[in-house]
Amino acid sequence: MSNAVVLGSGIGGLAAAIRLSRQGIDVTVYESADRAGGKIAELNLNGFRFDAGPSLLTLPEMVFEILDDDLRFPVRKLEIITKYFYPDGTQLSAYGNITKLSGEIEGKLNVPAVKVTDYLRKAAKVYELTSDLFIFGSFHRLRNLMNRNALKTLVNFRKLQAFQNLHNFNVHELEEKRLVQLFDRYATYNGSDPNQTPATLSVISHLEHNLGAFIPEDGMFQVIRSLEQQALRLGVKFHFGQPVRKVEIDKGKVLGLLLDSGFVSAEIVVSDVDIHHFYSTILPDKKRLAKIDREERSSSALIFYWGMKGNYPELDIHNIFFSEKYPNEFYHLFRTKDVFDDPTIYIYISSKYNPSDAPEGSENWFVMINAPADIGQNWNIFIETSRKKILQKLELMLGKNIRNSIVSEEILSPPEIAKQTGSVNGSLYGSSSNSRFASFNRHANFRSDIHGLYFVGGSVHPGGGIPLCLSSARIVDELVKEQLIKNRL
Ligand SMILES: Cc1cc2nc3c(=O)[nH]c(=O)nc-3n(C[C@H](O)[C@H](O)[C@H](O)COP(=O)(O)OP(=O)(O)OC[C@H]3O[C@@H](n4cnc5c(N)ncnc54)[C@H](O)[C@@H]3O)c2cc1C
Repeated sequence: MSNAVVLGSGIGGLAAAIRLSRQGIDVTVYESADRAGGKIAELNLNGFRFDAGPSLLTLPEMVFEILDDDLRFPVRKLEIITKYFYPDGTQLSAYGNITKLSGEIEGKLNVPAVKVTDYLRKAAKVYELTSDLFIFGSFHRLRNLMNRNALKTLVNFRKLQAFQNLHNFNVHELEEKRLVQLFDRYATYNGSDPNQTPATLSVISHLEHNLGAFIPEDGMFQVIRSLEQQALRLGVKFHFGQPVRKVEIDKGKVLGLLLDSGFVSAEIVVSDVDIHHFYSTILPDKKRLAKIDREERSSSALIFYWGMKGNYPELDIHNIFFSEKYPNEFYHLFRTKDVFDDPTIYIYISSKYNPSDAPEGSENWFVMINAPADIGQNWNIFIETSRKKILQKLELMLGKNIRNSIVSEEILSPPEIAKQTGSVNGSLYGSSSNSRFASFNRHANFRSDIHGLYFVGGSVHPGGGIPLCLSSARIVDELVKEQLIKNRL
């Protein structure tokens, strides 16, 4: 029986463990934290339950395809994906249904519905042209570049909008300032700047609006509970509180791992840890580190988990309070690397549809602003000033007192994200996509010069976010299958 070890039990590591185990491989996971899930986490605070990390699920079938039927959990497709609040007082509900969405935009922003349907049709086309090669496959393999799908992508390269940035594309397609802002926001879904990221990223709006946005009925952490249960059922062994110190290599082949407790031999090693951390500490490699550093780190987040007394019918599950000067916000995130004084505020309230997440007559507010990657800024000052600005802005835009209703509070800052998950600089998605070549520069899911070494998770190909991490595990599954067949020949 072949054996594999997985470093890290983030969603990519869990999915890889399940898939390899289904191949009949003996799998062991080593995780430095005391629980599985990495950035997908849950927080219980004085009777309030919070999804501490991700709050939105797209492509849920990517999770379900690796779960036994009885472990698949109910998910709800959101009728209103996000409620938007603009500084000029406009409020707009982004419906999951395209006809309702375009109708709402026509009514509230006076933009013909057809502009929105056309935009989403184009985004669907970009997805169709890119998904096989850039999301579900590995273009790092010559064979994948030589088939009909890849040829179709190359022939239609112009349609991918890779040579203009998302903001310029949105201005060209949508014109209306508030609508442009709404579609620019999708760049933040992988921690990037719409003024720098290629317009190919319009595929994110396709995932959310054409294919749907979902929430598991028992909260986002249900994804991890089910994956962990599945892995255990398949016989995967977990060792928590066991950081991997080194990967041992000899003559271009993995030998195993070095832990505090000693050496563990393995035929296959799959790393789910931040690739920057991997090459700075676990398998030190200055050259590869320099290549990773060529791409800017993705943004991080500053999150306030507020247990709120009272109910707020004007808010939905997902709410955005936009900044008046959106481009300046990105300038601060990626250039001056400080916290902007008019940040866009995101509020996620899972108790809106799962009342048991908050005591009766209360709500659980996950209040997040985008924050720069941690480069040693004074976070105590940023937290204090941001908290003041957030309260001022929400009270102004909602026209009511908020601060006196906060009955419980917990804060998560970029250095804490780095500490809890091993994500270098607290970046949520590894490298950003702030360059035309970002997706080409992301680390591959394998090393052609080291037999048996594989990579999954948000900091490698195809990128950050739950569906892409799951895709990285699917790619590694195929690669390992090929390796084992070759070994047997
Ligand atoms: C606040 C926040 C909001 C987000 N919102 C969304 C969202 O709405 N939708 C979405 O799709 N995505 C979202 N994301 C991104 C998503 O959470 C990540 O892309 C994804 O969870 C990353 O998974 P991963 O497999 O890369 O592993 P990670 O979650 O990064 O986990 C890596 C694991 O490796 C462990 N580890 C590190 N070093 C070692 C070592 N030396 N030895 C052993 N173990 C080690 C860590 O402890 C950790 O458990 C969000 C992330 C955050 C933080």
